Amino acid sequence: MLSKIVIANRGEIALRILRACREMGISTVAVHSSADRELKHVRLADESVCIGPPASVDSYLNIPAVISAAEVTDAVAIHPGYGFLSENADFAEQVEKSGFIFIGPRPETIRIMGDKVSAIASMKKSGVPCVPGSDGVLDDDIDKNLQIARDIGYPVIIKAAGGGGGRGMRVVRSEAALHNAISLTQAEAGAAFGNEQVYMEKFLENPRHIEFQVLADEHGNAIHLGERDCSMQRRHQKMIEEAPAPGLSKILRKKIGERCAQACREIGYRGAGTFEFLYEDDKFYFIEMNTRLQVEHPVTELITGIDIVREQLQIAAGEKLSYKQKDVKIQGHAMECRINAEDPDNFMPSPGLISRYHAPGGAGVRVDTHVYSGYRVPPYYDSMIGKLITHSNNRESAMARMKMALDEIIIDGIKTNVPLHKTLLRDSTFQAGGTNIHFLEKKLGM
Ligand code: ADP
Repeated sequence: MLSKIVIANRGEIALRILRACREMGISTVAVHSSADRELKHVRLADESVCIGPPASVDSYLNIPAVISAAEVTDAVAIHPGYGFLSENADFAEQVEKSGFIFIGPRPETIRIMGDKVSAIASMKKSGVPCVPGSDGVLDDDIDKNLQIARDIGYPVIIKAAGGGGGRGMRVVRSEAALHNAISLTQAEAGAAFGNEQVYMEKFLENPRHIEFQVLADEHGNAIHLGERDCSMQRRHQKMIEEAPAPGLSKILRKKIGERCAQACREIGYRGAGTFEFLYEDDKFYFIEMNTRLQVEHPVTELITGIDIVREQLQIAAGEKLSYKQKDVKIQGHAMECRINAEDPDNFMPSPGLISRYHAPGGAGVRVDTHVYSGYRVPPYYDSMIGKLITHSNNRESAMARMKMALDEIIIDGIKTNVPLHKTLLRDSTFQAGGTNIHFLEKKLGM
């Protein structure tokens, strides 16, 4: 097993990783910015190193600082968590070149998946269903592009190969608008991502967002842990996730899940990963792969009983997966509400002192958070301060437990989106299950 690891992240996920390490007897090094000395995992870690000032670019995104921290503490591996450097192929490469284990896929894999065009090409080759679209990057031949769009059928969407965070895409509903849309998206993509390349896909009008969790080791084994429905989003930010996806048939789960696991074997994937799909009219369309741990991994852990972070650590140590596909059994239903320090009416961040915090509890309730009474939420980072996750033997009961948990939780001193979650949990359309990705924004009148 790994002897000591650096946790190159902050907040709830740093604490989540720390807990897995402690359980497994792995020593931990917390690296943190000067604004994060009071984080719970910094206090609990065996060692901690301040790697820079508050701004992420100077601390959590500072590659030499993170690697130096591993050097001075004699750590053997680095866990990047999510966000920050987790999907940065150059970081993964430098970690390995410096003689440390990167807890994630090989740098080449991250690079391929980070470019959407190469990711789609690689998935198509492995038999993963993709959105009908251009065969690779569009060039400047107008007639050719018009023909591609005609073959796909309008509406189409022009997307930046290097895009991310829901930026760099444009929907086109008619021939007349195509050429201009391509040029505009190219120019924007060049400015935003340093890569002008764009491609074309069929635009799906009312899809759901459903993603498959996979685990793969270095010995050629890969399994899937079923799917999560993350359709409840605002501006491409997920708010509520659940597993399994309401209404998805076992046959389709098995078919798509196995395709994803097979793709992992073919590309030599290593670690935990997520295949994101749009789902419409009982069909799956791959859009991208996330080569890291996801925020919403706990819902999968609760329905499968598999500790995804523990598996990541074991895989990084060169061990085989602890499970075979036949060992993966889906039990009951789990739901997660992301708790953000923000105004529930206008979504403005609401950092500051948490004067009083009380965690909900009871059967089937899990709270992943780093906050405590007296903790001050800094203004420099993402507004998510925790996740409320519930599990039960069916969706209705998991929702009932979530409602109770939302009623019990107390976070005083700052504004949070708990009131919005309460409203959503009481919405009859959400209760019925299977809402599409536009539901939340429509409900909010956006
Ligand atoms: P990013 O990496 O920026 O998140 P994605 O490719 O994952 O980009 O797409 C982000 C979101 O954009 C999707 O969740 C979906 O809401 C929308 N989207 C992307 N491609 C399509 C498509 N072909 N049809 C409809 N919506 C799409």
